[in-house]
Amino acid sequence: MLASNPTLIYWTLAILVLVSVAFLVGWRFRRNAINRRAVARTQPPAESRSWHQLDADQTLTELEVTETGLETSEALARLERHGPNRLPEPETRGPLMRFLAQFHNVLIYVLLAAGVVTGLLQHWLDAGVILGVVLINAAIGFVQEGKAEDALRAIRQMLSPHAMAWRDGRLTTLDAADLVPGDLVQLQSGDKIPADLRLLRAKGLQIEEAALTGESVPVDKVVGALPLETPLADRRCMAYSGTLVTHGQGTGIVVETGAETEIGRISALVSGVEQLTTPLLRQMAQFGRWLTAAILALATLTFCFGVLVRDYTAAEMFLAAVGLAVAAIPEGLPAIMTITLAIGVRRMAGRNAIIRRLPAVETLGTVGVICSDKTGTLTRNEMTVSRLLTAERAFTLSGTGYDPHGAILLDGESYATQQDPVLTEALRAALLCNDAALTPAEGEWRVEGDPMEGALLVAGIKGGLDPEMLASELPRTDLIPFESEHKFMATLHHDHVGESFIFVKGAPEALLEMCSRQRVAGGTADIDRAFWLERMEGLAAQGQRVLAIAARPAERHATDLVFDDLGRDLVMLALVGLMDPPREEAIAAVEVCARAGIRVKMITGDHASTAMAIAGQVGLANSNVVLTGRDLDAMDEDTLRRRAEEVDVYARVTPEHKLRLVQRLQESDRIVAMTGDGVNDAPALKRADVGVAMGINGTEAAKEAAEMVLADDNFASIASAVEEGRTVYDNLKKAILFILPTNGGEALVVLGAILFGFHQFPLTPVQILWVNMITAVTLALALAFEPPEPGVMGRPPRNAREPVLTPAFLWRIGYVSVILMIGTFGLFLWELERDASIEQARAVAVNTLVFFEIFYLLNSRYINAPVLNRAGLTGNPYVLLAIGLLVLFQLAFTYLEPMQALFGVAAIDWTVWVRIVLVTSSVLFIVELEKWLTRRRRLAD
Ligand code: ATP
Repeated sequence: MLASNPTLIYWTLAILVLVSVAFLVGWRFRRNAINRRAVARTQPPAESRSWHQLDADQTLTELEVTETGLETSEALARLERHGPNRLPEPETRGPLMRFLAQFHNVLIYVLLAAGVVTGLLQHWLDAGVILGVVLINAAIGFVQEGKAEDALRAIRQMLSPHAMAWRDGRLTTLDAADLVPGDLVQLQSGDKIPADLRLLRAKGLQIEEAALTGESVPVDKVVGALPLETPLADRRCMAYSGTLVTHGQGTGIVVETGAETEIGRISALVSGVEQLTTPLLRQMAQFGRWLTAAILALATLTFCFGVLVRDYTAAEMFLAAVGLAVAAIPEGLPAIMTITLAIGVRRMAGRNAIIRRLPAVETLGTVGVICSDKTGTLTRNEMTVSRLLTAERAFTLSGTGYDPHGAILLDGESYATQQDPVLTEALRAALLCNDAALTPAEGEWRVEGDPMEGALLVAGIKGGLDPEMLASELPRTDLIPFESEHKFMATLHHDHVGESFIFVKGAPEALLEMCSRQRVAGGTADIDRAFWLERMEGLAAQGQRVLAIAARPAERHATDLVFDDLGRDLVMLALVGLMDPPREEAIAAVEVCARAGIRVKMITGDHASTAMAIAGQVGLANSNVVLTGRDLDAMDEDTLRRRAEEVDVYARVTPEHKLRLVQRLQESDRIVAMTGDGVNDAPALKRADVGVAMGINGTEAAKEAAEMVLADDNFASIASAVEEGRTVYDNLKKAILFILPTNGGEALVVLGAILFGFHQFPLTPVQILWVNMITAVTLALALAFEPPEPGVMGRPPRNAREPVLTPAFLWRIGYVSVILMIGTFGLFLWELERDASIEQARAVAVNTLVFFEIFYLLNSRYINAPVLNRAGLTGNPYVLLAIGLLVLFQLAFTYLEPMQALFGVAAIDWTVWVRIVLVTSSVLFIVELEKWLTRRRRLAD
């Protein structure tokens, strides 16, 4: 009786108080640690260095470097001295702290308390087993969490930044970690500054320094030295590591690297390790906490009921209540969900989709619209010039890819370029107004830089020009870089007698506005806009990308090129038509998306006719209608919202249009994934539900803003990521659907025993612990490896608002729990009826429960699809392995003497196994029947 053992009550109460205090202290400790980190983030750097007061030459002298950059040998020596240009790793918990953190969990507190009280009751064996299980559980959690964190760290490293620096007199792409003080670094819009730099050249250079100063308005950069006392935020001749170039170009010399940079010195600024969590995991953790509280309350009630109503002793009931708590709390669930998530993220990385923010994994499964760029994402970005049209002649170019072997043809005949001065001038302009380089690599030709500019180089070489010789004859003095807002690029050159020339290439509409004349044999003539527009339409309608080339003389000895210099008097030289065929995989992926209920929209900076032709080739749903940036400008938001639903092709758009489109689509309740590569795409990427940046051609700014980065820039990888996203969510649901009925069944067995007044329970707490632990590391873990279900891309996207625990879900959890309870209880009683010992009956109960789980695991592989087929039963090798292992464990549990002694069981004979298998396989058929009825009902609806 309760009253007969007051000491036990005191102990129990004292331990409960201790558990609560420990929990609160642990919670406070975590909060404080988080707050401390937040405070560290806002603290200003200690003293700052004075590089800003040196002028460019002094900086070069101080760092012992010339204007052609460092030699590799010197750079290596400096790397040895200064160490890699990496920020110190954020403080992470050491292994000991990580191990101890495994104990910070309500269930573990309950178990520890139970272990202590069991010890006080002198049940030494039980106490020992409970404590042993707690330790093993912590060890498993420790190892699994470590693996998940390692996987994420490896994925993050796939995104390590690069920098363009001069080494041995050549511009080279380097790992940002290899930069050393003295390196000369080239900057362009979208770059993330890789180290602290003293700027030597700035051309319209603007840098957003929010990461350092908190100020999000970009700062205009200059090169002049500044007084010593200038505060950090005003040092306009410096560019600081971690900040972003939002506009223009520049060159800087590395002055500090790694921990010595301004950002490195505010050590806490390094983004911390991301928590392994998503909204669903948080939702389940919350649910788990409520469930635990409810179970503890139920256990207390049961304790009182048993002692007061059923005449159990307090000691008996204490063990029963602990058994109930242990049975009902789904302790393995959070770990399994984390692992499932980590496996999903790794699988996505394997398919070229690198997740930067974990919640995106879940959002991917709800995506209903993918807005994709055209060039390089839907098309191959392997360009070839196929046509060149001057005012008087239409040339064709032979040859494929970047191989410069090929010729310029007129009416099908090879044509010598020098015969036509207009053609020669157009090709010269195309080679000079160009930043790409062509290099032979492993038997083929590779382009460094923009593929379109690479194609122009190839065209020039086919026309017999030599890019290097041309560049030395007409050196470049200045440029206006290409930006998608103005859609052209212009360069200024001079020859050796001081004459200057401007060459421009860009979108034909943009250039036609700037031209008043056109080049003809022997001079120039008034521009015939209608002629050029008609030619442009003709090329674009074949899906070719069209570029116009223009030029004009500039003032002698001009050294600067600004927008106003271009004026409206350019001379149109030629139109160039470039082929960029669609990617085969993209065509297939667009089809997959259509089946998966996902609308694909092409949003491109290219011309409307080109966009429509390519949209038709890749198979977009509605490729006959196109809206241009100009159309969008003329629309009010309501009209745009309506039109955005139906129209799938958008051409000549700017990044601002992308943002508007995302917003309108989201207002129509669409979950939107949007791709982007430029610095100006960042707002649209941030706004989209899943921002997708290009890994190869994307800027660092776009990558920073995105949730996901495509390692291969390929549209097909987005479709794969959606498939994996849907799979991860399915697998998380499967884990819940599998684990909860196990706990439900066990709890019902214990509750039933108490209600019916059994003095010998079918399951003891340590046996329940065994079942939970052993099945969590085998069966539930196998579900985390489930491959995508066959129909995963054949159904519409998940409704983002739908809760996980739907009535259908709860129904399955409920009735499977009841089946488990009836079967376990029934076979336990059967054994007792047959005069078996309690140890044997309990061995039967435990094995029944485990075999129920084995069969139910097969059901759980598919949520609603049938599994009674070859793929369903054998499709996941991990499941088969887990089942095999589990059977071995159960044999050891039942027949090895030390295990029998530890767990209080005895050997059973083989006829009993037959009964167990027959009874437990019922769950497989009953759940399949329920799935079948559900599918039939859905079909009828
Ligand atoms: P997408 O948005 O699908 O990648 P895109 O690459 O065609 O399409 P932008 O990069 O904005 O979009 O280019 C728009 C237009 O600007 C092109 O159609 C072309 O006419 C012109 N253009 C592109 N790159 C250059 C460049 N390096 N120099 C001059 N003009 C360019």
